Amino acid sequence: MTAILHCGDEERGRIWADVFARDMPEVDFRCWPDIGDAADVRYLVAWTMTPELIAALPALEVLFSIGAGVDQLDLSLLPPHVRVVRMIEPGITTTMAQYVAMACLALHRDLPFFHAEQRAGRWSYRPVRLCSERSVGFLGLGELARASLAALAPLGFRLHGWSRSGATIPGVQCHAGAGQLDTFLAQCDILVCLLPLTDDTRGILCRDLFAKLPRGASLVNVARGGHLVQDDLIAALDEGQLSAAMLDVTSPEPLPEGHPFYTHPAIFLTPHIAGVTRRETAVHALMDNVRVVMAGARPDGEIDRDRGY
Ligand code: NDP
Repeated sequence: MTAILHCGDEERGRIWADVFARDMPEVDFRCWPDIGDAADVRYLVAWTMTPELIAALPALEVLFSIGAGVDQLDLSLLPPHVRVVRMIEPGITTTMAQYVAMACLALHRDLPFFHAEQRAGRWSYRPVRLCSERSVGFLGLGELARASLAALAPLGFRLHGWSRSGATIPGVQCHAGAGQLDTFLAQCDILVCLLPLTDDTRGILCRDLFAKLPRGASLVNVARGGHLVQDDLIAALDEGQLSAAMLDVTSPEPLPEGHPFYTHPAIFLTPHIAGVTRRETAVHALMDNVRVVMAGARPDGEIDRDRGY
C-alpha cells in the first residue's frame, strides 16, 4: 500500500492521519518515527529533514513541504529524482493578504510616526494623503503577492510589481528582470518583499536598493529574514532614506535579546505570523496534491529544484 510519512508536530500528525483515514483510505498515513515498511513510503510531508530521515526512505518520490517556502530544506540531501512541492493553501494566502493590507495601510497612514509621537507625549499632526497618492510595489509576483495585490486594489493604491519573468495582472504595472528593477524601485513609496529566498535574492534588501527608492519610502518584509541586510536597514532609517519598516521575518528567528530592531522607533516587528498554514485547510490541499501525483499529473506548487523556488 502507498504510504505518506508525516514528520514534525505530533498533534498535527495525529489530526491529519484521522482525516486521511476518513477521506483517502487508499493511502496509509504514517507518523515519524513509525515508518513501518519503508518500501511503501513514497511521499514525505515535513518542514525540515535530516540525512537520517532521507536515508531511511529509499522509495521516496515526492517531498511535500509544510510551508509555502522551501528555503528551510537542504535539497542537496534529496536524490535528484525526488520532486519537491511547497504548500499552497487558502489559510496561508488569506492571512498573508490581510497582513500586507494591514501593513501598507499602517505605513500609508503614518502609524509609526503617530506611535512615536504618542510615546513622547506629543499631540502631533501630519497631513493625511489618499491611497491614490501613494504607490505600493511588490518584489515577487507569485501566489502570495497576487493575493496581496487583490486585497490592496479596492483601496486605490497605485500598484506595481517586479518579477524574474514578468507578469500581466490587471491594474498592476509589472516590470521584469534586472534591467527593469531600478525603474520599478523609483516608483515604490511602500516596498513589499515577497520573493523566495534563493542564492539570487539573498541580501537583496540592501543599501543600494534602498538608495533607489523615493526618499522617505517604507519597507514591508514578509518573505524571509535572509533577504535583508540588517545594518543597511538601520542606516537607511537613521539617514531618513527610509521612514519605517514592518518586518515579519528576521534572521535569526527569534532575534537575540538586545537586538537593535526591538527598540528602533521606526521598526515594527511581528514574529513570523504574516501567512500561517492552517491545519484544517492544509490537509485538504495536501490530499488534493497527493491525488494529483498518484494520477501522474503535476502537483500545485511543485518547485524547480535547480531554480530553488
Ligand atoms: P511564488 O513561488 O509563488 O512566487 C515567487 C515570485 O518571486 C515569482 O513572481 C518569481 O518570479 C519571483 N522571483 C523569484 N526569484 C526572483 C528573482 N531572482 N528575481 C526576480 N523575481 C524573482 O512564491 P509565493 O508568493 O508563494 O511566496 C513567496 C515567499 O513568501 C515564500 O518563498 C516564503 O519565503 C514567503 N512566505 C512568508 C510567510 C510569512 O509568514 N512571513 C508565509 C509564507 C511564505 P517568476 O514569476 O518570474 O518566477
